[in-house]
Amino acid sequence: MVRPPRLDPLMRRLGVIGWPVAHSRSPAMFEAAFGACGLKDWAYQRLPVPPELLEQTTRALGAAGFVGANVTIPHKQAALALADRASEAARAIGAANTLTFADVGAIEAQNTDAPGLLAALGLEPPLEISALVLGAGGSARAAVWALLGAGAGSVSVWNRTPERASALARELGAQAMAEPGEADLLVNCTSVGLERLANPVAALNQLALTADQVGRYRYVVDLVYNDEPTPLLEAALEGGAHTVSGLDVLVAQGALSFEAWTGLPAPRDAMRRAAGAPVLDTDAPGR
Ligand code: NAP
Repeated sequence: MVRPPRLDPLMRRLGVIGWPVAHSRSPAMFEAAFGACGLKDWAYQRLPVPPELLEQTTRALGAAGFVGANVTIPHKQAALALADRASEAARAIGAANTLTFADVGAIEAQNTDAPGLLAALGLEPPLEISALVLGAGGSARAAVWALLGAGAGSVSVWNRTPERASALARELGAQAMAEPGEADLLVNCTSVGLERLANPVAALNQLALTADQVGRYRYVVDLVYNDEPTPLLEAALEGGAHTVSGLDVLVAQGALSFEAWTGLPAPRDAMRRAAGAPVLDTDAPGR
């Protein structure tokens, strides 16, 4: 008989819940952070969970000794809904990406996507720029809320399913667009680019954009990351935009989750290196 692997009951376990989640670099990033901080009894793993099993699996994680979990596509809104307690920001956004399993079995929800996006963007608030957010899922909600809160002059939203963009815009105080329009900043919060297509133009077309149009935005953020620049970031770089990759955002939001769970300052350079993002030497003394 094949025995299941024995889990060390003293390990402090974390993971990322998603569907799909095979692409996630969070395990490598968090393992590097534990190593850099000497946290030998912490571990982080991928948790592939389909939507129909989200609630029962998440509730079981606390009982199985997990400290917490990050939540990614497509579960961020459902994760907030099943939490027993939520931060004010997560509640206002309507989505959570960081869950903590309290001793009494309660699930606490936070959202580090919103401050993570602003940190990765690196612009001082008030932003005083216009922004267009593509998508209407959990990460789009965080982006719209963060940008409005940081003083963006206007935030518009385009989504493949327009009804979802209208509902999000109504709830959070943005404008829904029938097609992507002009703005200073473009943020892709759809999953387009996650799967590499043979023809990069096809990926842009899924976002109702052409390469020329992408080249007109001053700043372009793509939450999606891959081994190579996504078609959106390639077009943005070609057009001379200031770009922020999904890996920059991954590290920024992951560092905040790490700090919430461990109470320690996140070793951002170690995390950037492990995630494959350019290293900025932010861990150096005096920074
Ligand atoms: P989600 O809640 O499932 O939302 C997915 C969004 O993508 C929806 O707006 C959906 O539009 C749109 N979409 C899916 N397939 C599409 C297609 N073929 N053409 C056009 N639009 C399409 O997911 P999420 O949690 O917001 O995450 C979205 C992406 O951001 C994921 O790839 C995730 O990995 C990434 N992400 C990265 C970070 C990071 O740290 N780098 C953080 C958060 C999220 P419909 O409404 O029409 O279905």
